[in-house]
Amino acid sequence: MKETHEFLFPNYYLKFSCKMGACRSACCEGWPISISMKNYFYLLGLDCNADLRHRLDCGVHVVDHPTEEEYARFEPRYDGNCQLRMQDGRCALHAELGEEILPDVCRLYPRGIRAEDGLYECSCANSCEAVLELLLEQEEPIAFIRRELTLEMPPLIGRQSFFETLGVEQKIRLYLISVIQDRSMSLPQRMMCLGEVLDDMDFVLERKDKAMLDRMLSERRTTFQACADSKKISEDHLKFGLEIVEQMIAILDERSQSIRGCRKAALSYFGDGDSAIDRYRTARSHFEALMPNWESFYEHMLVNHMFFSLFPFQDRPESMHSEYIALCAVYAIMRFLGLGSMAERQEKSALIDGMVAAFRLIDHTEFDRLASHLLHRLNCTSRAQMLDLISL
Ligand code: SF4
Repeated sequence: MKETHEFLFPNYYLKFSCKMGACRSACCEGWPISISMKNYFYLLGLDCNADLRHRLDCGVHVVDHPTEEEYARFEPRYDGNCQLRMQDGRCALHAELGEEILPDVCRLYPRGIRAEDGLYECSCANSCEAVLELLLEQEEPIAFIRRELTLEMPPLIGRQSFFETLGVEQKIRLYLISVIQDRSMSLPQRMMCLGEVLDDMDFVLERKDKAMLDRMLSERRTTFQACADSKKISEDHLKFGLEIVEQMIAILDERSQSIRGCRKAALSYFGDGDSAIDRYRTARSHFEALMPNWESFYEHMLVNHMFFSLFPFQDRPESMHSEYIALCAVYAIMRFLGLGSMAERQEKSALIDGMVAAFRLIDHTEFDRLASHLLHRLNCTSRAQMLDLISL
């Protein structure tokens, strides 16, 4: 049902439109898509032609442990495509019966629409190539707009909150985003400073000191110890960073197919041992020469990921420091797979495809929780060690 509310949204949001059959890597490719119980029974009783009925019967299965929200799945075909995808790339369900008939996830993706405590937000996931193409085109920082919109609302799922926010969760999130958008520093420096700001924020929120929090949110901080530390990034940081990200990706790869192709390409290019660092440096120079504005693209991807995923207030009982570690892991994976995808290529579409694969892992799995646990396992958790990941 359509509803009209005042939404907060990033400025690319209204420009988004699906590329449909023209998409190089459609969102329904390579992973099972979960649908709700309501959507499943609706599809079961749908009046449609014999071919579509056959595709639905073969393609949609109830999962082993169904819940109301995740009741059944579209299982991918042998070639990774959704059973409903036609040869020309279009969806058979959409083509025969129109958009209104699609399960919520297919109709809304990549949009994330939220309503909580009277606040409405919408944005799009980085895992869609059309979204990343919009971000790549945009040079200036993403602006957040508050405006009345009339949108089809998804079924709203209550979120468990484990954090003290002193009633200003959205303001805190936008403040943290502004640190990543502070172009007076390099992107790695902004990442380090974010760790420092989060430590201070954690302290203030734990003490429930609203006056101190208000002061913090209204001032633009100009001195950061972390910023000075990040100037000391050495070859050792790069060496450890490479080792850690390779181990992390190898473990994550076992759980998700999405990064398999670009991980293989990156690893076969970088190789291992001491020469890996030289090859990594060569790939980095190649990448930065082809993409002189890479920092603004990476800034947009981080900002969009933070807004879309409610950073650092996701619904899981993790500390703020763990959320920060997970964001550093996102940054490291973006750099490693981005440089790997472009190492022997010139076209920007190779970078987009690598980032789409990365964000299919990041946005469609419990990546943040997994990544911070993984880095604990690999003994890489201190702020100083985050320099290793950020040096990539
Ligand atoms: S990935 Fe994006 S552009 Fe491609 S089919 Fe899905 S929604 Fe459309």
